[in-house]
Amino acid sequence: AVAPAASRAAAPAEVGSPLPVLGDDVRVPLAGGGTAPYAALDYAASAPALRAVWDDVAAYAPYYGSVHRGTGHLSQLSTELFETARATVAEFLGARDGDQVVFTRSTTDSLNLLAAALPADTRVFVFETEHHAALLPWRRAGGGVQHLATPASPERAVAVLDAALAAHRRQRPHAPALVCVTGASNVTGELWPVRELVEAAHRHGARLVLDAAQLAPHRAVSLRELGADWVALSGHKLYAPFGAGVLAGRADWLDAAEPYLAGGGATATVRRGTAEDHPDADQVGDLAVRWHRGPARHEAGSPNVIGAYALASACRALAAAGLEELTRREEALLRRLRAGLAAVPEVRVLSLFGDDAPRVGVLSFTVRGWDSRRLAVALSERYGIGVRDGLFCAHPLVGALLGDQPGEPAPCAVPDSGGAETALRAVRVSFGAGT
Ligand code: PLP
Repeated sequence: AVAPAASRAAAPAEVGSPLPVLGDDVRVPLAGGGTAPYAALDYAASAPALRAVWDDVAAYAPYYGSVHRGTGHLSQLSTELFETARATVAEFLGARDGDQVVFTRSTTDSLNLLAAALPADTRVFVFETEHHAALLPWRRAGGGVQHLATPASPERAVAVLDAALAAHRRQRPHAPALVCVTGASNVTGELWPVRELVEAAHRHGARLVLDAAQLAPHRAVSLRELGADWVALSGHKLYAPFGAGVLAGRADWLDAAEPYLAGGGATATVRRGTAEDHPDADQVGDLAVRWHRGPARHEAGSPNVIGAYALASACRALAAAGLEELTRREEALLRRLRAGLAAVPEVRVLSLFGDDAPRVGVLSFTVRGWDSRRLAVALSERYGIGVRDGLFCAHPLVGALLGDQPGEPAPCAVPDSGGAETALRAVRVSFGAGT
């Protein structure tokens, strides 16, 4: 039972105005009676969509048609909007000549797509601190997966990667290597030294994919400027609705790989016969199949046109608002949050790189004497504040931060039974442009 609020409490002057988002006028019932304006502080899971994006989609939605091969007017319009969305995302991400933008469902999907496209012998290097979406897709990499130990500083992260890649290069000088690294942690919010990690990867002939799920909603992400080979992100964390994500970057591995999804749209030709009769064709039973190159190779089936359109709309809205301005606001909010938490002696803010490390609007903490689940539920029931508690799909990182203690960690994204004492949990507050 939620209701739109009559008015919204004004933010203090130092913070400036939030961008209008869906749900920013909602009041929620409180356990003690009455209602409160809903404080959405779980942006790191899914940010509320910008109203500008919603309006943009609503303006387009009545006119959509089939994409790509439809000859009708609305089909042509939709095709143009879908491909323009791709170009908008490419520009937003500073794509270089030759880079391609593949629309996926999410960051998880994007990284799994890249994992399926690895050349045969590729070894993957990934810090054990990563979100499971970045940690786990590489399990079938031909050259194996190497988990890098939790670093205590950004400099250490670069040194650890450098040493691991140097050793790999000595042992297997010609085997391809891929590094997968986050731009901003979904647990601590801390920024990782992406440019330096890219340089280390390239120094040893490795490639790097940036998990920008948490970085892109808060900071400009440019393939050209960072030098990363690929970047992955999710629309639903970037102020667009659910359902669309992106893998953007170098085309060569993607064009050489089996299609991630096989089906219509990925195929150039499907003919009876053998691959011998049809050069470059794959044999599928008694059919010779030639797959497209480019994004279509991995986008079989009817695409999520509205999702792609909405994601591009969010990119335009963020670019228009100015990510630097959003960062300035967010840092002011972060200072207020930190000052409030610092006043409570029982609070411990989780950090890998130290208290002064730069971070985006994501912060996790524990309160001595409080079970994190009970605390998160109390914030909701008593004050209408929506946060998240648990391990945030980064079990090894939260384990390292809290000092691994015995006990079964709570399952990712599945509500635990309230009230149970669980040592390995924290409360996460995350916010952004609409806060
Ligand atoms: N990477 C990071 C750093 C994340 O925080 C998340 C989601 O929380 C993901 C990847 C996965 O994103 P999605 O669930 O949209 O695939």
